[in-house]
Amino acid sequence: MKIVTTASEMQQISLDWRQQGLRLGFVPTMGSLHEGHLRLVDSAKQLADRVILSVFVNPTQFGPNEDFEKYPRDLKRDSEMALGRGVDVVFTPGVNDIYPTGDQTQVIVTEVTRGLDGAFRPGHFRGVTTVVAKLFLIVLPHYAVFGEKDFQQLTAVRRMVKDLHFPLEVVGEPTVREASGLAMSSRNAYLNAEEKVEAANIYQAMLGVQAALQAGQRKVEALLPVAQTILGRGGHMVLDYVEIVDVSSLQPLTTVDRPARILIAVHLNGKRLIDNGPLIP
Ligand code: AMP
Repeated sequence: MKIVTTASEMQQISLDWRQQGLRLGFVPTMGSLHEGHLRLVDSAKQLADRVILSVFVNPTQFGPNEDFEKYPRDLKRDSEMALGRGVDVVFTPGVNDIYPTGDQTQVIVTEVTRGLDGAFRPGHFRGVTTVVAKLFLIVLPHYAVFGEKDFQQLTAVRRMVKDLHFPLEVVGEPTVREASGLAMSSRNAYLNAEEKVEAANIYQAMLGVQAALQAGQRKVEALLPVAQTILGRGGHMVLDYVEIVDVSSLQPLTTVDRPARILIAVHLNGKRLIDNGPLIP
């Protein structure tokens, strides 16, 4: 496994591999790897001949009062985990390489990034789509694998790939969870043991809504309180949002009469957690 730190070297490796007719799979991450990331690697390995995993804590997707500085970083551990799972290249560029001096170019996906996290994290998705576009043009993958854990991000990236005619396939993989149901996340490192127990209520809230739906309740105005009640049980969660949306447009629904998704964002003792899951009518 090779560790590559510059965009030019990465692009050259990918060009050489493509010249040889090899199919390339790409897993973009911010590092601090966990089993969720590694499942994306497994998926990429199934599809492609070579797998590139990027580790880049992207400053432009963090707001001024967010956790960019303290975001967990451990490249040595990440590299060992990537090697263990069969990654061919860990690409870990510097900020100045990704954002050259005088950089003036951004990619904005307008509609699907407006609500949900877009409403609470101004500029976040612009940072995401801009860095993902840059990474795609450096890594030149045939397949790019993302987690459903960040469902709005996955939706925005799919939209960007379609709109800008990127010659690659976006692959979405289901969220990997702890035994408690808590979605794995690098940010779970911020939680203590009690907070992890309470954080599992997010998954319980989604199960509660799914159960109410299965029992015949399709009205969103009746389903949302089911989630809100469960999220309130531990007493330390402050909600940013709980929404039930159309799975493609991410527009809020009033009745679950088509494929839908519940998306939840909370602060637990000031630590922000997001999760989401499918709702089948
Ligand atoms: P991050 O390092 O948090 O930016 O995430 C990098 C990629 O891993 C994104 O496509 C995420 O959606 C995905 N990911 C993060 N957590 C999980 C998880 N628990 N299960 C599946 N994919 C995940």
